[in-house]
Amino acid sequence: MDLGIGGKRALVCASSKGLGLGCAEALAAAGVDLVMNARGAEALEASAEAIRKEYGVTVTTVACDVTTPEGQAEVLKAAEGVEILVTNAGGPPPGKWSDWEREDFIKALDANMLTPIAFMKALLPGMIDKGWGRVVNITSQSVRAPIGVLGLSNSARTGLTGYVAGTSRQVAPFGVAINNLLPGIHDTDRAVALDGGASRAENMTPEAVRARREASIPARRYGTRQEFGAACAFLCSQHAGFIIGQNLLVDGGATNLTM
Ligand code: NAP
Repeated sequence: MDLGIGGKRALVCASSKGLGLGCAEALAAAGVDLVMNARGAEALEASAEAIRKEYGVTVTTVACDVTTPEGQAEVLKAAEGVEILVTNAGGPPPGKWSDWEREDFIKALDANMLTPIAFMKALLPGMIDKGWGRVVNITSQSVRAPIGVLGLSNSARTGLTGYVAGTSRQVAPFGVAINNLLPGIHDTDRAVALDGGASRAENMTPEAVRARREASIPARRYGTRQEFGAACAFLCSQHAGFIIGQNLLVDGGATNLTM
């Protein structure tokens, strides 16, 4: 399917690896020029170069922490005027409900709520002026059904979801569509790290932890970054302009819901 977005420009935050990289690759495959970001310059440049070679699009890299005001300013300088924004950042650490202090919540809110909001506030006016724009926020299945050990994620991402619900309806009249993608378990460094934590806590091998988690997913496997990226590219496409303020689970059926 021609996504109809060739020649447009996208900012994909936190995209040297994992789900962000999957989104960057799928947008590049649709002919979109990219601004990519991550903290680690080496992996970022390697991923950007692989995308340039494979898809022939222009890729600008900005190595910085996207959750800080300085990092956001750097990224925004490179991303001025983009028509497509994909927000993303690392997820908060796991723990127990009684462990987290105010500072832990502030960090999670900064990374997973206030950073995407800052990017939307900065870039939506340009999209509105052009009469066309797409925003996809990478959130989590924890927005629909809480994950006990990820209380910081449950809290911060639900806040972002509320902001998007209201904002998406205010910018839709100008041709701008904002939606959220809610990943379930995907085969990325983040999932491997969480498996490692569970294996240490429960004295199981990482393989046994993974097999147990796979068995709990109706699709009986972890998702891939390519599948996730394809869903993102569709939401950024010309065909998705009537999809507004939605929260799309990409979780292999893991979240047991009727709707
Ligand atoms: P990942 O494989 O660990 O990749 C994270 C990417 O983000 C890397 O490119 C990393 O590069 C970059 N990054 C992290 N923190 C950053 C920061 N502060 N500023 C700029 N770049 C940053 O993670 P993932 O699995 O793709 O997860 C992406 C998001 O989806 C996370 O918020 C995660 O919690 C959420 N999620 C993931 C899953 C899953 O199963 N994978 C499920 C639900 C939700 P650097 O480290 O070099 O900065």
